[in-house]
Amino acid sequence: MSSLFKKDIKELKGVGEKRTKLFNKFGVYTIGELLFFYPRTYEDWNPIYSIHNAPLNFPCCIKAKVISNVKKNIIRKNCIIYKVIVHDGISPMHISFFNNPYVSDKLIENHEFLFYGRINMNHNRLEMVSPDFVQSYQYAPIRPIYSQTYGITSKQIEMCVRNALKLLPSKIKDTIPEHIKQKYNLCSLRFALENIHFPKSKEELELAKKRLIFEEFLLFQLGIQKLSNINKSCSPLKINNNCIDEFYSLLPFFPTNAQKRVINECINDILESKYPMSRLIQGDVGSGKTVIAAALCYLFAKNNLQTAFMVPTEILANQHFMWLKNIFSNSDINIEILSGSIPKSQKEKIKQKLNNGEIDIIVGTHALISGNVGFKNLGLVITDEQHRFGVSQRAKLISKGEHPHVLVMSATPIPRTLSLILYGDLSISIIDELPPNRQKIDTFHINSDKRERVFNFMKKALDEGRQAYIVCPIVEENSSNMISAETYYDKIKNEQFKNYNVGLIHGKMKPKHKDKIMLDFSNGEIDVLVSTTVIEVGLNVPNSVIIIIENAERFGLAQLHQLRGRVGRGIYKSYCILISDAQNEEALSRFRIMVQTNDGFIIANEDLKLRGPGDFFGDQQHGLPALKIGNIIDDVELLYLSKSAAINIISSDPNLELPENRMLLKAVEMLFKNSIQNGFN
Ligand code: ADP
Ligand code: MG
Repeated sequence: MSSLFKKDIKELKGVGEKRTKLFNKFGVYTIGELLFFYPRTYEDWNPIYSIHNAPLNFPCCIKAKVISNVKKNIIRKNCIIYKVIVHDGISPMHISFFNNPYVSDKLIENHEFLFYGRINMNHNRLEMVSPDFVQSYQYAPIRPIYSQTYGITSKQIEMCVRNALKLLPSKIKDTIPEHIKQKYNLCSLRFALENIHFPKSKEELELAKKRLIFEEFLLFQLGIQKLSNINKSCSPLKINNNCIDEFYSLLPFFPTNAQKRVINECINDILESKYPMSRLIQGDVGSGKTVIAAALCYLFAKNNLQTAFMVPTEILANQHFMWLKNIFSNSDINIEILSGSIPKSQKEKIKQKLNNGEIDIIVGTHALISGNVGFKNLGLVITDEQHRFGVSQRAKLISKGEHPHVLVMSATPIPRTLSLILYGDLSISIIDELPPNRQKIDTFHINSDKRERVFNFMKKALDEGRQAYIVCPIVEENSSNMISAETYYDKIKNEQFKNYNVGLIHGKMKPKHKDKIMLDFSNGEIDVLVSTTVIEVGLNVPNSVIIIIENAERFGLAQLHQLRGRVGRGIYKSYCILISDAQNEEALSRFRIMVQTNDGFIIANEDLKLRGPGDFFGDQQHGLPALKIGNIIDDVELLYLSKSAAINIISSDPNLELPENRMLLKAVEMLFKNSIQNGFN
């Protein structure tokens, strides 16, 4: 079996240069991979009718023998009809095909076929035009339909798969160990492969699907577990109760009950388990997740252990760095920042200090995972806005320590099933309370002809000393008729807002330039910040109270909610204005949800409904292989079953070293080969 994964697809009968390229487009490079290229759907030709009982003008299947030659009729240039008569033992039926010379070779007299099409009455004769057909002794009436692309049809793929199945050796080693198959009632790999492509019946198709979905989920979870820290031992920390009270006294506000509870949940993980913590903190935008991170940074620093705090953007790194520096200013904690824009010489110094343990907390971007960053005693890894990072990036950072504790923070609530598969065994804490005095952000959807009125409303707020954001979907003018951030900025700074300080920020700027603008905005030197979605993640300027989103139809629900989260972060009443002239129902329903609710959990669920879970997996960001057959919503039962199987396997054989698990290990490595390099520990 595994040898088929070494055989190039072009060695398969019926596959030449052209088809090789087409198969490659589908990610099929070897004969083995073709066997795992599942049908997109099936066409069920059942029931099989006799000709005289078949419904008229309705797709149906007839089993009948060819009783004539195929006759060729040239009607005119470019129009040739091929005619043949078939018989099912009771009645005859006429079949015609247009411009399809191949049928003459295939429809051989005295052979029996299944024909699938609509029957009409034509001059008192029953007739089918251009039906689908297959030889009846060989094929069952449930037909596989493959994704086709220009240049290869589903039927041609079917022929190739058929040839590939013939190459399966008589004995194939099954991926799933025997005892698991028995426990969960799973069919053999051979049966599954044969029946996923050419099911003999619905029941057999279900058996095949069950096995392959189970296997896919199982491999996924074993892979994730191998990537994570689970079951790795770590040294215990000493935490005295004063320590956490000391930390609270450094804060400029009282922690909310939810923050205290979540901090305690983390501490319990760290103190009570002999394994490192793996915890996901979910809290809506503005719920104060950074406080949790800071508390743990403090505890670890007091235990002489280092913390790496990774965030997705330079702006955010800077913001966290400044905030932490500020609250820890009267303590002996050393904190530094590492990001792309820091001069090389300074970077080298920081790396050196990290290596010899002089730095307690390092805040940074992806720069933290680069090869030459090392730690003396990395105890804790934090990633903020986790949905922006891939599992492999997190794994890389983790691998820089001896099984450090792991905290991930995300504002995007993830459905339970999804987090199960994306994060394996991460425990979850939820911050379900906003800091006091927060007011609901009022959200409106308006057409662009009311823009000037919004500007006037905005000016009133600016005159009271507040600030505002305006978000545009694109940086520069292009062929679309959207307003770009640059043009917008030029216009309002010289016209409507000429008496105010207007700033511009977007992703194409140099990091230094961006930092300067952000700093000016946080300090209140800029009143109105025109921007692209660079401000989407985590940015915290509590004095800004209005966010205008132009061409709001261009943004997804989760993104709109994130953007809205830039305001309403302080004590002032805040507003979010969605400007859009879009008429399509999909965009309008997103606006309706935004106007109705401020609750990120409701929004995430609506988002999942509108987009479907496929989107999460199509998303390259998390760096995981796509699910080919399993669906986390429809197949949730199998997801949970495979989960317990995965736990069972890992608990007795964490590294999949036992002979019975060898095939599993191979399959896991193959599944993750493209997504994860160097991440396995
Ligand atoms: P997010 O969960 O979106 O990351 P932040 O941690 O950035 O939220 O916090 C949002 C704002 O709320 C910040 O200005 C922060 O200082 C403030 N904040 C956090 N916790 C509290 C609290 N308990 N009381 C008052 N303000 C708080
Ligand atoms: Mg945040």
